[in-house]
Amino acid sequence: MARRPGRNFLFVPGPTNLPDRVLRSMAVSMEDHRSPAFPQLTLPLFEGMKKVFKTKDGTVFIFPSSGTGGWEAALTNTLAPGDKVLTARFGQFSHLWTDMAQRLGLDVEIQEEEWGTGAHEEKIEEALRADKAHEIKAVMVVHNETATGVTSNIGAIRKAIDAAGHPALLFVDSVSGLGSIDFRFDEWGVDCAVSGSQKGLMLPAGLGFVCVSPKALNVRKNAKLNKVYFDFDDHLKQNPAGYFPYTPALPLLYGLKEALACLEDEGFDNVLRRHHVLAEGTRAAVKAWGLKLCAKSPRWHSDTVSAILAPEGVDAAKIISTAYNRYNLALGAGLSKVAGKVFRIGHLGDLNELMLLGAIAGTEMALLDNGVKIEAGSGVAAAAQYFRQNPIEAQAAT
Ligand code: PLP
Repeated sequence: MARRPGRNFLFVPGPTNLPDRVLRSMAVSMEDHRSPAFPQLTLPLFEGMKKVFKTKDGTVFIFPSSGTGGWEAALTNTLAPGDKVLTARFGQFSHLWTDMAQRLGLDVEIQEEEWGTGAHEEKIEEALRADKAHEIKAVMVVHNETATGVTSNIGAIRKAIDAAGHPALLFVDSVSGLGSIDFRFDEWGVDCAVSGSQKGLMLPAGLGFVCVSPKALNVRKNAKLNKVYFDFDDHLKQNPAGYFPYTPALPLLYGLKEALACLEDEGFDNVLRRHHVLAEGTRAAVKAWGLKLCAKSPRWHSDTVSAILAPEGVDAAKIISTAYNRYNLALGAGLSKVAGKVFRIGHLGDLNELMLLGAIAGTEMALLDNGVKIEAGSGVAAAAQYFRQNPIEAQAAT
């Protein structure tokens, strides 16, 4: 393909735009990962990630993998073959995690939810109350379903587990939530939280994170599922001194140091607020176009990704290809059940109002090019109006 001048507008919901200072921080020479100096880099990373997960007592593991590796680490280190787990399935990622649990040999009870909704805490409570023998060892929930732009209420799910008086562990995938929407590991009583580097943490893909509660760490002695690469025990022998059981992804660790500094500099509450404002602006544009979100009601709205339904008779894949080919704008595709029906605007990571307005303008042009009857400029105007009325807190210059 010929050179495309200007920046590519990256608006898939991960990988996300990286701050320039994070990009620069990864241009490092290789070094000895067993040197006495190495822990100066690594020990603060574990502490920094604990702050992001909002935990004091949790243990953070950093794997050279993507989020999927984090899923596998969480399951294999805490469960045994045939153990029963409860999942809610309402999108491609909750499907894939469910599928992994089945392929690992777990006995999976699935609550099928309509795509566009999320995990229903009242149904989880009901299932746990019905499980008088306490056979369910863990409840698995995707915090932010990236395929449909749906956020579930993890605090409410913890309350449901407690109300049922059930000892099940709470496992949460926050791959597309952590670092952009509120996540409270300790307060919500999460036992294993999984994330990846390429979304709210503003890094390339390549690091998988798992935060583990003392309760979940303790059950690992009975966790008879096979694991080698992801064995917590191997990491626990090395991590406290700042080392890893195998060669770490060095540039990504330098990137993580800088990304954590970016989050600190902006202020964590400001980061969350910025994501909320950007999401609301996007939703204002969608409304002005007269289109609908895949998320069925505001209860499920995601502040990191909006999955937008193409009007009847319009192929969402064509909108995405026009956006990419004509305007150098990358929108997220509809996955599996919603392929061709939705296109997604990712609004997470290192971005601001004007970057997002560019993406909204490009989407608007691609919609018009595909014959969708919207008023030209309506989405941009609605989002701009929202942004003018809801300023993002002044941020420290970086
Ligand atoms: N979970 C969610 C919610 C995701 O959005 C993704 C990827 O987009 C994954 C899990 C899988 O993560 P990875 O692609 O980093 O393995």
